[in-house]
Formats: sequence, structure tokens, C-alpha cells
Amino acid sequence: MMLVQQNIYFVILSLTAIISAIVAFAAWQRRSISTASSPFIFMMLAIAGYATVAAMEAVAIMLPEKIFWSKLEYVGSGSVITFFLMFALHFTNKNRWLTPRNTALLWVIPTFNVALVATNESHSLVWSDFLPDPNGSNIVIYQHGIGFFWVMAFVYVYTLAGIIILLKKALLPSVLYRQQSWIVLAGAGLPLLGASLYMLNITPPGLNITPMSFMLTGLTCFVNLFRFRMFDLLPVARDTLIEKMSDGVLVLDHKNRIVDINPAAKHLIGAKKVHIGQFAELILPQWTEIVKLYQKDESVKTQIFIDAVTPRYVEILVSNLHNNRRKLTGHLLILRDITQQYQADLELRRANKRLQKQVIKIEKLQAQLREQAIRDGLTGLFNRRYFDETLPQELIRAARDCDSVAVMIMDIDYFKHINDTFGHQAGDRVLQTFAELLRQHSDSQGIFCRYGGEEFVLVFPGMTLEKAFQEAEKIRLSFQAIRVQFVDQEIYATVSGGLGVFPDHGETSHDLLAVVDKALYAAKLDGRNCIKYVQNS
Ligand code: GH3
Ligand code: MG
Ligand code: MG
Repeated sequence: MMLVQQNIYFVILSLTAIISAIVAFAAWQRRSISTASSPFIFMMLAIAGYATVAAMEAVAIMLPEKIFWSKLEYVGSGSVITFFLMFALHFTNKNRWLTPRNTALLWVIPTFNVALVATNESHSLVWSDFLPDPNGSNIVIYQHGIGFFWVMAFVYVYTLAGIIILLKKALLPSVLYRQQSWIVLAGAGLPLLGASLYMLNITPPGLNITPMSFMLTGLTCFVNLFRFRMFDLLPVARDTLIEKMSDGVLVLDHKNRIVDINPAAKHLIGAKKVHIGQFAELILPQWTEIVKLYQKDESVKTQIFIDAVTPRYVEILVSNLHNNRRKLTGHLLILRDITQQYQADLELRRANKRLQKQVIKIEKLQAQLREQAIRDGLTGLFNRRYFDETLPQELIRAARDCDSVAVMIMDIDYFKHINDTFGHQAGDRVLQTFAELLRQHSDSQGIFCRYGGEEFVLVFPGMTLEKAFQEAEKIRLSFQAIRVQFVDQEIYATVSGGLGVFPDHGETSHDLLAVVDKALYAAKLDGRNCIKYVQNS
């Protein structure tokens, strides 16, 4: 019966050793940037060693043998506890504290304890006596002395210190790591419970369940490793990334209460006091609006204006947070200050608008300039420059189409006399009146230009000599009938004209104009107020 019990202890302790070794190996394979993985691996190896030694002790028969293994157990437990404390410091990013000197200091008491146990024969401080099992098995019941309780006190102090360090982390409002920290804590609490039960003699006599409870620690860490990827999702990532990043991070639970907020988010929102558990609307009034936007999609990006001490524009990216069963557990908000970008955008848009207006103005001016370049200022007719460009083009077109072009020059008679009699302004008025008369003839498809002074040149594309002569006569007669009113005077004027037709009177604009000029000269010689053309022989 007792042998069976002994074997059960052996099996359980061996299993503890094997599982811890496997966890250590798995952790070694998955060791990553986390500095916490090294103390964790050592801790698991120490548990494996501790359990192995305890297993040997359970099956040992001779008392000296049992005492030898028991002494070795203290090496195991001391290492486990010390590595646990180091792991807790690493896991919570307090490893800065673990300087070589401090690490050495951490090992002073465990080493002293091992020495104390090893030299028990000389002082009996740890074990005062070894009693055989009254039931006759080879289990030895250790009688504990003051040294044992000293060692236990050390176990409690180290384990509790580790637990308090982890507890602080577990109570932090970070959603990501809270679950992990609680699991680590639960694992850490178990050996403490086990050791307490052993010390209070609640466990079966002679069985130290501390290594077994350490096995459970190993298992919870195992779960942590593979389920939550303990060393992949590092707390270090949260601390250095989330806390120090320039983007604001705000985590809300499903009731829109603040679960986590980083300094950047506080700064961006301009909220001085933010309490964990506070409703988001209280610090971010726009949240109710954002939620409405949000209902449609999995994530939404929007811009809000925050009228804080310094007004700013903030871009908010909202994403859903789900639990394992795809149930909505809250929202993650990433906030980014886009004030500068926004203002730059605004300024750019304004500049663009200004530029657009400018372009329109310039285009208008350009059109005006083009118009001015080809128009005569006084009469509004085309100017000579336009005529010089247009006539050759008309002739080319006519030559191609086997068409005619009639050209006439009209010159106001005795214009110098009008100027001399009524003044220069009166002369201008006469010029304008004649131009107006020509414009009224524009339905006849003519191109009318002021050639210079009181000379006008008229181009009629596709017109025959006869038809052009009729047109010229019409203009001449109309002009002769007009009385130009100037102040209280009536001015009467006539016009003479010379006429020619392409290609009959010339095939180039130069030749044609020479013939037309000659005809005008003939009209002047013939007493003026008439139209002449060169009769073709
Ligand atoms: P003719 O019957 O032979 O054509 O005599 P004319 O006096 O009309 O001809 P002439 O070439 O001797 O005089 C033309 C005058 O036209 C001379 C010039 O002072 C005047 N003149 C030229 N341009 C303008 C103008 O823009 N406005 C005014 N008021 N007079 C002008
Ligand atoms: Mg004249
Ligand atoms: Mg003249």
C-alpha cells in the first residue's frame, strides 16, 4: 500500500519534471526579442530539476540517501524562486534593475540557504529530527527547526515580491496583456499555496506538494506561451510603442468606457483628467457622432476638430475589437494630429482658387490684348496689321477654291479740310460714323479695316467685280446722305473708292493693292465722291 503511494509520488514528480522540461524546450525554441524568455527557460529547467530531485527522494529507501536528495531539493527550490523573481522583473520591463551586482545580490540568500541545509548535521537548524512513518513505509517525516522557517520566509518574500510586480502589471488597463498577466499570476500563486499547505501539515505526511504545484505553474506558462504567444506579444511593445508613440491610442470597451489611453491621446484630445472607466463622450464629445458613422463598417476613418487650448484637427481611425468568439468587445481608436496637413491643404486650396482667378483674369487680358492688336482703337474696325495678315490668306484660299476676292480702298474726300474747319475731334467723329456705316454692311460678309488715317480697306471674299461695285456705290451713297452732328454743327462728307478683284487685277496682295490704289487715284482725279476700277482690256 505504501509502496503504491510512493510510486504515485514518483510518477507525479517525474511528470512534473518532464512537463517542465518540455515547456523549457518550447520556450527556448520560441525565444524572441523578449528578455523575459531567458529567466523563464531557467525557471522551467529549475522546476524540472527540483521535481527530479524530489522524485529521487520519494523512492529512496535509506535515510542518508533521502537526506541527500532533500538537500538537493533546496538547490532546486531556491533557484526556481530566484528565477521567478527575475522573470517577473523582465516580464514587467523592470529588468533595468537587474544589474550584474543586483542579480548577484539576489542569489546571496538562496546560496546561503543551500549551505545552511548542507551543513544541517553540524547545527540541526533545518531538520531537528527524522521520524519514520508510523505506518511503516519508508517515508521520512522531517522535524523542522528554525532554519526551515527562515528558508520558507525567503520563499515567501521572493514569491510575493514577484507576484506583486506581476499584479501591478495585471491591474494595468492594457487589454492585450491583462489576460496574460493574470494567467502568470495564477501560475505563480499555486506553488505558494502548495508550500503553505505543506508547511501547515494539511498535505499527506511526508509529501511536499510544492514541486507538483510548480508543475501547474509550468502548465499555465505553457498555455500562455502557445495560446497568447507570451513572448511574441511583448509587454515591452505596449510600453515603449503605445506609451511613447506620437499617435494617440484610445481603447474603449463595449459600453464605450475608456479602458486604455496613452499620453499622446490625452494630449490630442486636450483632456487633463482622464479616468479609466470614464465614458468616452465625456472627454470626446464627437464620439456619439463617430459611432453613428461607424455602424456600417468594420473600421472607419474620420476627421474631427478639437477646440482645445490650441485648436487642432485630428484624424481618427476606429476599429472593432473582438473576442475569440467574434463578439464585439470594444473599439480601438488611433488618433493623429493632422492640423498642419489640414492647414497646408486649406492654404493650398486657397492659393489654387487665387491662382484660378488670376488665370481667368490673365486669359481675359490676353484675349483683350489679342483683340487690341488687331483692332483700331478709334473706329473698332480691324487694323492694318490684321488686314496685312488676312488678305494673303484670303487670296490663298480663293486660289485653291478658284474663287474671286474683291478688294476696295475708300478714302474720305477733303478730310484735311474737315479737320481744319471743325477740329480734329470732329474729324474723329466723321471717321467713327463712316466705320459705323461699314459695320452695318457687315451682313455682306466683308472684312472692314482702317488702313490708316481716313483710308479704309474692304475685302469681300467670293464677290464679283459687279457685285462689289454695287456694294461700294451703296456705301458711298449712304455716306453722302449722312449729316454728322458735332456740337451744334452738321458735317457733310463724301468718300471716293478704288476697286479691284483677284485674280483679274492681280494675283498677289501687293499687285492687287497697287491696282486698287491706282483706281482710287483715278476716282480722286475724276472729282471725288465716286468709285473706280481698272477696266480690263
Ligand atoms: P483727299 O480728298 O485728296 O483725300 O484729301 P484729304 O484732305 O482727305 O487727304 P490728305 O491725305 O491730304 O489728308 C488726310 C488728313 O487726315 C491728314 C490728317 O491730319 C488727317 N488724319 C489722319 N488720321 C486722322 C485721325 O485719326 N483723326 C483725324 N481727325 N484726322 C486724321
Ligand atoms: Mg482723303
Ligand atoms: Mg488719304
